[in-house]
Amino acid sequence: MDYQVSARKYRPSAFDEVIGQPHVVQMLQNALTTKRLAHAFLFSGTRGVGKTTVARILAKALNCEQGPTSHPCDHCPSCADIASGTSVDVVEIDGASNTSVDDVREIRDNVKFAPFRGGYRVYIIDEVHMLSNSAFNALLKTLEEPPPHVVFIFATTELHKIPATILSRCQHYNFKRIQRAEVIRRLRHVADQEQLVIEDRSLGLLGRAADGSMRDALSLLDQAAAFGGKTVTHADLEALLGAVPQELVRAAVRAMQAQDAGETVRLVSRLLSETIGKSFAAIWSSMSAISWWPRW
Ligand SMILES: [Zn+2]
Repeated sequence: MDYQVSARKYRPSAFDEVIGQPHVVQMLQNALTTKRLAHAFLFSGTRGVGKTTVARILAKALNCEQGPTSHPCDHCPSCADIASGTSVDVVEIDGASNTSVDDVREIRDNVKFAPFRGGYRVYIIDEVHMLSNSAFNALLKTLEEPPPHVVFIFATTELHKIPATILSRCQHYNFKRIQRAEVIRRLRHVADQEQLVIEDRSLGLLGRAADGSMRDALSLLDQAAAFGGKTVTHADLEALLGAVPQELVRAAVRAMQAQDAGETVRLVSRLLSETIGKSFAAIWSSMSAISWWPRW
């Protein structure tokens, strides 16, 4: 069987499966139900929080045989084509590698064609802030008078780089960082599905390292599995993440508490050598997190 990274394998395929963005999902579903649909959507937020995932689900919702609908069926030919990335009505463009005005002109020349199967031609432009100024200007012409069957979905990690003229023509949705507890819950689900043996505290460590990005969390889990096989030990994970080994920190604090100068120096120097490249602040913050820190 072909190996598929977890972030793709476990990518949500319906609005109900999207994690951590209930406000965005609700607003989009309401817009679909009441048929108050914009011609241009702008999804902003940090990496790996579900912008392109939601863009694809929205494309399905617009083009589903039963659509536009807030609950695309996921089975009709249109939904199936979008899910497999073979739909001719949904065009995904990476703004990072298609930055020129010619790339946008090509879009402009193509928007006039009617959709092949669904009701809309949907253009998903990822990293849209990377477009050049002249490309933005060319895009603006289309946004000013969009053909009725065209919907643009822009995604960006850098909202401040989007020109105001573009912003004002988009319905803007702000994607939040995903809460650590939700990231951890999802990691547990994926780990169980993949039959990985991993402790809860290890998932906690991954959740913290991912910093609100589900894609980062799942990539780290894949790396941990590649490193440790089906059983991921906490020590392996700390080594992989370059994290400060908590056991060592606790031992060092215990030695200080016992006023054992020799042992303290030995453990602290081991800590420093094992976490070389890590700032002292990181060690300090993990030490200060220990609740039984002795009072001097
Ligand atoms: Zn469908």
